[in-house]
Amino acid sequence: MKKILLDHIKCKLCGGCVAVCKPLALVVRTGKVHYSPKKCVACYNCEKICPQGAISIGADDEDKD
Ligand code: SF4
Ligand code: SF4
Repeated sequence: MKKILLDHIKCKLCGGCVAVCKPLALVVRTGKVHYSPKKCVACYNCEKICPQGAISIGADDEDKD
């Protein structure tokens, strides 16, 4: 599974990615989007919806946890 990568400099905290992330792997906390890889189901809706291009898809993850 490929994790997503967040660019906190590009992110404008619009909340779009949080709204489309059904398993709640993305949350806004203390003025920043936080990502929980363990909850992520790799749908990449967040990457598609981000108007700032702040979310990208990382390399294949060998770590199964
Ligand atoms: S890829 Fe899907 S499940 Fe993972 S953080 Fe993005 S919207 Fe959430
Ligand atoms: S959709 Fe993009 S700009 Fe909006 S909160 Fe998520 S990462 Fe930030």
